[in-house]
Amino acid sequence: MALTVKLWGVRGSLPTPLKPTVIEERIVNTLKNFDKSNQDVNSFIKGLEHKNFGGYGGNTACVEVKSPNHRIIIDAGSGIRQLGAELLAGPCGKGQGTVDLLFTHFHWDHLVGLPFFIPIFIPGNIINVYSVQTNAEEVFRHVFQKPFFPVPYDRLGATIKYHKLDPREPHMFGELQVTPYQLDHPDPCWGYKIQNAGKTFSYCVDTECIRASRVDLGADLPLYQDVDLMVFDAQYTFSEAMEKIDWGHASAPVGLDVAMREGIKKVIFIHHDPAASDNKIADAEKQTRDYYEACIKEGKRNKLPINPVEWEFGYEGMEIKL
Ligand SMILES: [Zn+2]
Ligand SMILES: [Zn+2]
Repeated sequence: MALTVKLWGVRGSLPTPLKPTVIEERIVNTLKNFDKSNQDVNSFIKGLEHKNFGGYGGNTACVEVKSPNHRIIIDAGSGIRQLGAELLAGPCGKGQGTVDLLFTHFHWDHLVGLPFFIPIFIPGNIINVYSVQTNAEEVFRHVFQKPFFPVPYDRLGATIKYHKLDPREPHMFGELQVTPYQLDHPDPCWGYKIQNAGKTFSYCVDTECIRASRVDLGADLPLYQDVDLMVFDAQYTFSEAMEKIDWGHASAPVGLDVAMREGIKKVIFIHHDPAASDNKIADAEKQTRDYYEACIKEGKRNKLPINPVEWEFGYEGMEIKL
């Protein structure tokens, strides 16, 4: 595989655990619908929609990108806690690990998992922190201090090294080529275009994508071109996004428009609204399906240059191989 992308956190803004009453309700409905006499339990469970069983996931932004010889992590939302636990089985557990951690920006939902990322406490590990922003060390020192967290920055076991990325300039992480491009967000936020062995992944979260046309995107247009997989911000439904101007988040139809125009092969929509139930996210997915089918139909009728796109709403633990 040239690239493997795993989503450890797909929720926007705030970690959002499922309510015990919702879990109870789903178990009751699931049991009612299960026919013991002629159904296999595992295939029955696998066939259930997210909204009827595990949900889309409640942890915030964290994505792992792997090539055969390298791994990078983007953002340290609450999803990074479980990734950190998994890394302990390798060199990070022995104090011999090196972690390359990139940040899009430092809003809480992209940072809140950092104090629970165990490799950072283990002496001998090296944590390389990369960002376009120049204040990453200041942010880390702010997180690891009282009264916010009991372990002060200077007592962290790992060695933390800070690296500045230049906007729109490629940087090599092993065989992975990573280029930051600017997104549309209230605080400057940088998406990443990641390439290896002819495959390309674009990470476009958090963005309102106010600049959607080729002309408006200008120097940031390459983030959306020659892309095999794009992960895009769909915090809101289309009508909510129309009301929440300058909130810094988009809806799935906005991402689809760009993808259909630029020929992006596959899109996964994440950064789900913490206020949205799994049912509401599933409804937004259905509305997006109607929108997409209407666009394709319209394109065929009027012979417009619309490219078909494979897409779905992302869920926690989802892994895509390119
Ligand atoms: Zn966010
Ligand atoms: Zn943000």
